[in-house]
Amino acid sequence: MMGKVYLIGAGPGDPDLLTLKAARLLACADVVLHDALVSDGVLAKIAPTAEIINVGKRAGQKLLTQDEINALLVSYGRTQATVVRLKGGDPSVFGRAGEEIEALRGAGIEYEIVPGISAALGAAAAAGISLTDRRVASQILFTTFSRGNDGSAMDWGCVTSTTTLVLYMPGANYAEVSERLLGGGLPADLPCVIVSQATGAQQQVRWSRVARLASEERLPAPALLIVGRVASHDVEELSAKFWEANRNDRDLPRTSVS
Ligand code: SAH
Repeated sequence: MMGKVYLIGAGPGDPDLLTLKAARLLACADVVLHDALVSDGVLAKIAPTAEIINVGKRAGQKLLTQDEINALLVSYGRTQATVVRLKGGDPSVFGRAGEEIEALRGAGIEYEIVPGISAALGAAAAAGISLTDRRVASQILFTTFSRGNDGSAMDWGCVTSTTTLVLYMPGANYAEVSERLLGGGLPADLPCVIVSQATGAQQQVRWSRVARLASEERLPAPALLIVGRVASHDVEELSAKFWEANRNDRDLPRTSVS
């Protein structure tokens, strides 16, 4: 019997933020393979009869390799009717869905992606800010420092004075993050906000500035960083002049919004 594999976004934590489709599929799944990031509240929505496998991949202590997860998805896809691969946030955002899709396609197993609320959106909601506040922002860059194995650096060329930067997996070393942002040409005074465990019961929001970030106390994982003029409750104050007055020497593009 060939089944179907659903790559489902579990959202940032609060089970009320699951889509209706995700909740419906969790309630009738035969097997669920989930990441460590998925909250207990979401896991509670899984059918009591389902087999539940934690393939949790917390940094530094991987339980299963990506190849092993791919192989499990393929073998369950061949034997079970409804297989759920449950990922934190949205499956297509820093979730290694690409490799899983490739494995499923290669094995001829049907799959479907069920989107979820990515952490960036949960964090913006937690902080009560608009990521694209039209007074100061025109684009959002979802990024991370640790991409792939080649250690490729961030492409700073696309960061402008109206970019809202969302840094997933910022890690524990805020001093290093601050240094890299400053090295990329971002103004020392540019606002940023660290959001820890967004939408969960232990949610924390810490307002800071790019330079000051270096000395901020570390917040519990998972956390992400929103950087840009929208990361403030005082956006009116942060006019286009702010960027010009504060920018580092590095030659960043100067797009401004009117
Ligand atoms: N697919 C996920 C991202 C996986 S990468 C998504 O779309 O959200 C894991 C990173 O996401 C974490 O290191 C953290 O930076 C961020 N993250 C996930 N859940 C979060 C939460 N509830 N609060 C803050 N950051 C979160």
